[in-house]
Order: sequence, then structure tokens, then C-alpha cells
Amino acid sequence: MAIRDRFSKKLTCPQCGNSGFAEASEIDDAKRKHPGFTVDHLPRGLFIQRASNHQESTMIKCECGRKFPFRNIAEAATGRD
Ligand SMILES: [Zn+2]
Repeated sequence: MAIRDRFSKKLTCPQCGNSGFAEASEIDDAKRKHPGFTVDHLPRGLFIQRASNHQESTMIKCECGRKFPFRNIAEAATGRD
């Protein structure tokens, strides 16, 4: 039985700066084809635009209309906020 790895992540809208902590989980098992990623909680003003099994292709929509991925590929290079 796979263990679900739960974590939280700060999401910030690149357009209006709306931000907050999302709670998500995925299956911690490298043998699985996909991690079964799910967002369990989103901060106020942010919604799921498109659900996916992967963080990189899960799209978030802000109340201002901007869409952005749950995990931005370029995020590591942006440093601390
Ligand atoms: Zn926004």
C-alpha cells in the first residue's frame, strides 16, 4: 500500500500577487507511473483550473483571471521571496 506524501506550498499569482498556502499530496512511490498528485486545499481566491496527476501540469486559476502551474519550472531559479 502506497503512502501519500502530504505537503504545503506557497502559491503566488504572478499577475496580482494574491498568495497563500496550498495543501497537496501525492503518492511517495517511485515505481508508480504517475504520482497521483492532488490539491487538497487552496488559499482564498485561487482555484483549480485543470487537475492533473503531476504538479507541473496542474493549473491554478486566480480570481483575477490569471492561470499558472502549481509548480513553476523556473521556480528554483527565482530564489527566495
Ligand atoms: Zn491574480
